[in-house]
Parts: sequence; C-alpha cells; structure tokens
Amino acid sequence: FLRMAIAPMIQGEKTIGAVAVMEDVTELRKLEVMRKEFVANVSHELKTPLTSIKGFAETLRDGALEQPEQAKRFLTIIDEEADRLTRLINDILNLSRMENQQEAPGEPLPEPVHFGRLVEDTAEMLAETARKRGLELTVSVDPGPLLVRVKADDGRQMILNLVDNALKYTPEGGRVAVSVRNAGETLIFSVSDTGIGIAKEHIPRLFERFYRVDKGRSRALGGTGLGLAIVKHIVLAMKGTIDVQSEEGKGTAFTVHIPKVKLN
Ligand code: ADP
Repeated sequence: FLRMAIAPMIQGEKTIGAVAVMEDVTELRKLEVMRKEFVANVSHELKTPLTSIKGFAETLRDGALEQPEQAKRFLTIIDEEADRLTRLINDILNLSRMENQQEAPGEPLPEPVHFGRLVEDTAEMLAETARKRGLELTVSVDPGPLLVRVKADDGRQMILNLVDNALKYTPEGGRVAVSVRNAGETLIFSVSDTGIGIAKEHIPRLFERFYRVDKGRSRALGGTGLGLAIVKHIVLAMKGTIDVQSEEGKGTAFTVHIPKVKLN
C-alpha cells in the first residue's frame, strides 16, 4: 500500500506544478488490520460467555430455580463461564503487557533464572492434572546451571501453556514428556505428547491469537486460543526460537531453543 500526498506549487497566482510524496504504508496498514481484527475477536470471545451467563441467570430467575437439579446444573455452567471470562481477561492483559514491553526496549534485562528448576516446579504443579486425566507425565532435566534471562513469571507461563496443551490434547492413557537439555550455548526445552496431533495446514497459523484447530474442542477443554500466542511472545523476549513437529493421530512436539546466560 502506498500513501500519497499531493501539494500544488504556486508562484504568484499561478499553479506551476505539484509535489507528490509517496510513502509505503504496507506495514502500518497490516498492523492496523491486525489490531482491528484483534479487537473484533476479543469482543466476540468476551460476549460468548457473557451471553451464556445472562441466559442461564434469566432462566433461573424465570422459574428454573424451583427445580433444584436443573438449577444446580445451570449454576455450574454460570460458574464455569465466569472462570472462562477470567482466563480470557488474564490472557488478554498478559499479551498486551508483553506487546507494550516489546515496544519499550529501554527496560533492563531480566535477571538470570535457573530454567531447569523452573520446569521442575511447574511440572510438579501439573502432575495432579496429569494423574486426573490418566496421563503419564515425565520430566527430565540435564544437570548444571541452565540459566536464561526471563522474568520468572513469564518463564513459568510459557512452560505451563505448553505442558497444559500437551495434557489437554492427549487422550487418556497417553504420555507427555518434558525435557531440558544442555546444548552448549543454548538449552533445548521440549514438550512432546502422544496426543491427537495437528494437521500440516494448521501449523503455520498455530501461534496466531485466537487460532484454534477445533474451536469446539478447545472450548470444551477450557482453552482461550491465546496460549500459544503468549508462548511465542515469551520465547521472542528470550531471543529464542520455537518449532513444532506433529503428526495427526500420533502426537506433537514443541521444541524451544533458548540462549543461555554466559557465566564470566
Ligand atoms: P487453546 O486455548 O485453544 O489451547 P492455544 O493458543 O494454546 O489455544 O493453542 C492453539 C491451538 O493449537 C489449540 O486450539 C489446538 O488446536 C492446537 N494445539 C496446541 N497444542 C497442541 C497439542 N499439544 N496437540 C494438539 N493440538 C495442539
């Protein structure tokens, strides 16, 4: 896209020519379109649980309260939808905080954290979820000081989102393996599962905000569609890279390469 501004050149009373200034606004335009899309998506995503909360609340008020079994079911739905709203708002705020940070590069670098320990602690939090879902969760961390620069909360969030996805998209009886490997200048963090996998055509769009392979399934599992967009931001902030390998019906592996802090 080009933006063009034209100004006449006037000498005395006569127009003797024109000056045209052209500017490439392709990037700006793209950003603008993305922002608009995001706002539209956010509104839609917020409205869905709200509509449901409102609907069930009205049904209860208009008589369903008299039938305790039904009332209980509706209240459970209202409660779950309120939880979904909370998750959504937290994810949106997180994303927006990260984007603002990216645009303010003057900030000091975060202090080094022990990434291996962060993974062990986070995985421990998820062990109970794995057990409940009938999944085997294994964690293997190389020894040594595996230090990376990341805010501990962000690091934890990245690990949590990837492992939680692996647990969500793997049917009962499956396995989820988490590992941290020391690879010289970098460390390799990997989360692999024996789950439903992702068809090739979806892979390039996976890290987009609100992109989901199967909306219904994601919703049923409590997803917001923002988890991987947040992961991507955190990986970029660590100057790392992330790759996905997946086969439908077989499983998925996310691999993150993160530069280690050099000890002088
Ligand atoms: P969601 O909240 O829907 O899980 P994410 O941004 O975390 O959103 O992930 C986007 C989509 O990528 C998911 O809806 C799902 O379709 C797919 N996905 C992510 N991780 C996995 C995985 N380990 N196995 C299969 N599909 C996955």
